[in-house]
Amino acid sequence: MSQTNQQWQQRRETAVTAGVGNSLQVYVAKALNAEIWDVEGKHYIDFASGIAVVNTGHNHPKVIQAVAAQLECFTHPCFQVTPYGSYIELAERLNERVPISDPTQTLLMTTGAEAVENAIKIARIATGRSGIIAFRGGFHGRTLLGMALTGKVQPYKKGYGPFPGGIFHAPYPCGYLGISESQSLAALQGIFAADVSPDDVAAIIIEPVQGEGGFYAAPASFLQQLRAICSEHGIVLIADEIQSGFCRTGKTFAIEHSGVEPDIVTMAKSLAGGFPLSAVVGRKSLMARAQAGGLGGTYAGSPVSIAAALAVVQLIDDEQLNQRAEQQGEWLMVALRQMAEEFDAIGEVRGVGAMVAIELVEAGDASKPDKAITQALVQEAGRQGLILLSCGVRGNVIRFLIPLTASKEIVMEGLKRLSSSLRVVQNTRPAK
Ligand code: PMP
Repeated sequence: MSQTNQQWQQRRETAVTAGVGNSLQVYVAKALNAEIWDVEGKHYIDFASGIAVVNTGHNHPKVIQAVAAQLECFTHPCFQVTPYGSYIELAERLNERVPISDPTQTLLMTTGAEAVENAIKIARIATGRSGIIAFRGGFHGRTLLGMALTGKVQPYKKGYGPFPGGIFHAPYPCGYLGISESQSLAALQGIFAADVSPDDVAAIIIEPVQGEGGFYAAPASFLQQLRAICSEHGIVLIADEIQSGFCRTGKTFAIEHSGVEPDIVTMAKSLAGGFPLSAVVGRKSLMARAQAGGLGGTYAGSPVSIAAALAVVQLIDDEQLNQRAEQQGEWLMVALRQMAEEFDAIGEVRGVGAMVAIELVEAGDASKPDKAITQALVQEAGRQGLILLSCGVRGNVIRFLIPLTASKEIVMEGLKRLSSSLRVVQNTRPAK
């Protein structure tokens, strides 16, 4: 007998740890491009893309076809035992696409956190140094090293320490939060003076646009100065493009907007259009330094996910995903700026390409984040058939991660549901 959302929820509460959160208590039956249907047949427009995983839409026919063809051949000989050519082919495609002019090499893993962990391992073995600098508000995964790099305590780090040492956090430059580029750079110099010598630092890891942290984009000039500091001290610059990559911002990788060449790029999520796969792509001079057996994993570079990723890489050009991101970003910015006129809860509308967010505050005051209205909006939108995701160091940001393949009609219908949901939550907001 088919089960309702509520029945699944009851079984979930008994059977599954509460440590994994759910945005909505909606159980999926079917998904296609930017639409989802739940087990009760209710229709949703998906503005979350499975947390930035299906930039090419749910079940893109080309991705599904590629996976189906792979399933006919083999699913897991294990690359470390008997390799397969598709791993090499994908490595070649990624080496071509990454914004690094020197020769590059690729390592394939499974999750974003693993890509980050391996980027750090490679930076350490290549430099013979151990120190790592990351940024406050950054998110790099839920493994212990990923958590150590992540610059947000709740809900990620509290109670899970101690974390690996040798990691220092600098403030991420963010005008809206009152942190200027020069303050951030001065704090970095402060770390070099007080905590770790720059020649003991293996890597600086940064999201060119912070994802979980709130969709704040680092200014190009900041990334350029970071590049100069890394080059001066022989530090490996790692761009974590796990959320911002694969055309989300209108470039294949967000760091391309700054013209900066990182040394290593981490990628996952939309790399494989809904299948688990991650990659570390970096200068060959670094990647080649790891000893055989030092990197890898049983499932790393699954042939099924690789088949999906090869289809995704082809779609970047075939479906002009970067242009579509620009176009979708424009639709969103225009509509959201209009909404900001009507709803004083919207303190800022910002975006790079289709990586767009609204910051919800009390009466337009940036210093008063409104987490309660943000949470209420996600729930109300769910009731109105729109899947929204929140984020932000202060928990008061709604981020838009709509499949880049979504039609204008679907995006506009989603925005209508958003504005109607905003009206409900703003009108029912308790008076302060
Ligand atoms: N880095 C960034 C920038 C991310 O956004 C995420 C996931 N939200 C991760 C790393 C970790 O990826 P995963 O959840 O696949 O381990």
